[in-house]
Amino acid sequence: MRARAAYAGLAIGDALGATVEFMTSREIEHRYGIHRDIIGGGWLCLVKGEVTDDTEMSLALGNSILLHGGVNSRAAARAFSDWMRGKPRDVGNTVRRGIIHFRNTGESELAPNDMDAGNGSCMRCLPVALCTLGAKKEQVVYASRQQAHVTHNSCLADAGTECVIDLVQLALTNTSKDALVDRIDNLVTDYSEFRFRNRNISNPSGYIVDTLQVVFEAFIRTTRFESCLIDVVNQGGDADTAAAIAGMISGAFYGMDQIPEIWLTAINRSILDTCLQQAESLIKISPLFMEATGKVVDD
Ligand code: MN
Ligand code: MN
Repeated sequence: MRARAAYAGLAIGDALGATVEFMTSREIEHRYGIHRDIIGGGWLCLVKGEVTDDTEMSLALGNSILLHGGVNSRAAARAFSDWMRGKPRDVGNTVRRGIIHFRNTGESELAPNDMDAGNGSCMRCLPVALCTLGAKKEQVVYASRQQAHVTHNSCLADAGTECVIDLVQLALTNTSKDALVDRIDNLVTDYSEFRFRNRNISNPSGYIVDTLQVVFEAFIRTTRFESCLIDVVNQGGDADTAAAIAGMISGAFYGMDQIPEIWLTAINRSILDTCLQQAESLIKISPLFMEATGKVVDD
């Protein structure tokens, strides 16, 4: 099932990229030539096969969706708060601020703030893409913002996150690459900040625009799961998050057959199993699956 490949792709991108997170592309070249192995290390001193906040927050969100029966901002905020209580190694600044705001005020949706345009809401959007597969566009957007606005409420972060959700959903339904490229071009038409062609962007920051420019460029210029992820992580910068996002899109697009066995087996077994199981459970509550199996879908 492609949903499983998307979730595995997220975890693999995260683990592969974390080794070189915050290095520049030149530093990576000097140290590794081409970085292509899941070996741990990096500034977080990871054990081989460990993942970071990108995968962990996705799992926390996915769990809240399954418990609640859908995407709900309060359930998501509680799940993120519980996750942070476990003292994760890495918590992004904007994410931390949103979670602390929820703890202090009980508010699970932040007011709009253009400074919240980090990639933190996008990196964890895969569970939303899976459970809303086949839903109407407004419902997908609503669900995306329910989880996103717990920590990030900016137009650019929303637009980028909703584009990534659409790309994953298009890929899951066997759409051609041209259709995915069209969706990316639509984002660039709506928000020219995302323009990425012929710009050779590297060292992406955690700004949603920088991150997605690298992801889009790599996805378009490569033709395989493996080469897409290698391309992304060797750009350095926020490499784990860029590769996590590239991993979910290209995993959904190319499927499990293209994911190198050596990467799959390198991921911590219990994390990978949790990801794969969650992918199946989330797809089973999606409108597309419910319709296909003849279950009633409420509107
Ligand atoms: Mn991370
Ligand atoms: Mn990161």
